[in-house]
Parts: sequence; structure tokens; C-alpha cells
Amino acid sequence: MARPNTPDRINPDGSQTIKMKRACNGCGELLGDVTEQEMAAGINGRPLPDVRRECPTCAPTAPEPKCLPTTVLAGDVLCLDNECDHEHSAEGGADGIEDSYCDAVREETVCATHSRFVAAEDGFEELVHAEPWPCKRQAVAA
Ligand SMILES: [Zn+2]
Ligand SMILES: [Zn+2]
Ligand SMILES: [Zn+2]
Repeated sequence: MARPNTPDRINPDGSQTIKMKRACNGCGELLGDVTEQEMAAGINGRPLPDVRRECPTCAPTAPEPKCLPTTVLAGDVLCLDNECDHEHSAEGGADGIEDSYCDAVREETVCATHSRFVAAEDGFEELVHAEPWPCKRQAVAA
């Protein structure tokens, strides 16, 4: 699966349009455009996915990307948007997560490496595939 690599563009007015690039986390070489998933990880303070397998220099020696636990908020879209009419308890629900969410929103731990996120508008992201933690997708160590 090749990563697109959009060249920088000089606009007619002289300004430049630069597509953000992903650097290899092994050697720092630029590999191509950042993916939506990386963008979302950056915005939400998650570690960026391990891309050494994509890098011509690092691929031969790179291990399988490590599983990383990350906490996500799970619940109905209406709840996450605060548009539901559920109870909002003072402590922010059963497990004490942020006051701003109703009691139906819960925290879940998933594997950031094997789950798939897409960036949604307004800086949030949507979890399109959740791989529960502890993750069973990690290759058995050779
Ligand atoms: Zn590299
Ligand atoms: Zn995993
Ligand atoms: Zn709700």
C-alpha cells in the first residue's frame, strides 16, 4: 500500500501549498503524505503509528508495530456531541470521566495500533474499528 506523496505546489499568487509529510520514526526520512489516521493521532495526542515498515531504510530490520493502549470515549454520537437528554451527574458519570458527558458515555481502552480512526470535522475523530485491549493482534514474538 503506497503512501501518496503530494509535491508542494506554488499557487498563482505566489503562496505555497504544502501537504504535511510523515517522517519515518526510525531514521527521520520523509515517507510521504500524512494519513488521516496520523493526523487524528496528532490532534488527539496519541502516539503516531510506527511506520518503519514503510521505510526503505528501516523496513528490513523493523519489528512489527507495537501495540499501544489508548483510551477512547465510547457512546452514542448524540451523547458524545452532548445532544442527548441523558442524565449528567456531577461527577461526570459512573467512571468519573469528564463532567461534560452524560452517564451513558464510557471510557474504553483499545489498541491504537490496530484500531482505525478517521478524523471527523471539528477536530474530533471517529473510531471506525476498535481492537479491544489487551490486543490479540500482536504477532507472537519469534
Ligand atoms: Zn526509516
Ligand atoms: Zn494491537
Ligand atoms: Zn447521553
